[in-house]
Amino acid sequence: MSTDGLNDSEWAERLSDEEYRILREAGTERAGTSELLHVSSEGVFQCAGCGQELYTTDEKYDSGTGWPSFWAPADSDAVRRESDPGLLGTRTEVICNQCDGHLGHVFSDGPEPTGERHCINGVALDLDTE
Ligand SMILES: [Zn+2]
Repeated sequence: MSTDGLNDSEWAERLSDEEYRILREAGTERAGTSELLHVSSEGVFQCAGCGQELYTTDEKYDSGTGWPSFWAPADSDAVRRESDPGLLGTRTEVICNQCDGHLGHVFSDGPEPTGERHCINGVALDLDTE
């Protein structure tokens, strides 16, 4: 589905309040609140903003942080990374490459083979287990 050129009010109509706060305003959900923290079936995590495939259960692991965590995206082109300077130092933001929605952050304390921890808001993801 195309989300090109949607303005803020169109996004607000399309998304729930919480999805809007996270995807469009780079918010963060409360730790431990996502129903996607523990997933028992295999599937694909799509962007809640545009439906693009972002992550799969193959790369998902339990980081113990309270946010859904992945050691790699489904496709390296699905997300892009941007420097996110803040009070606690500069972090690396992860953004959906298709709709520019904020997903979460990536850290370098993840498991092999990448050593990356993609710390993603569950609100920004829709799980498709077809
Ligand atoms: Zn998206």
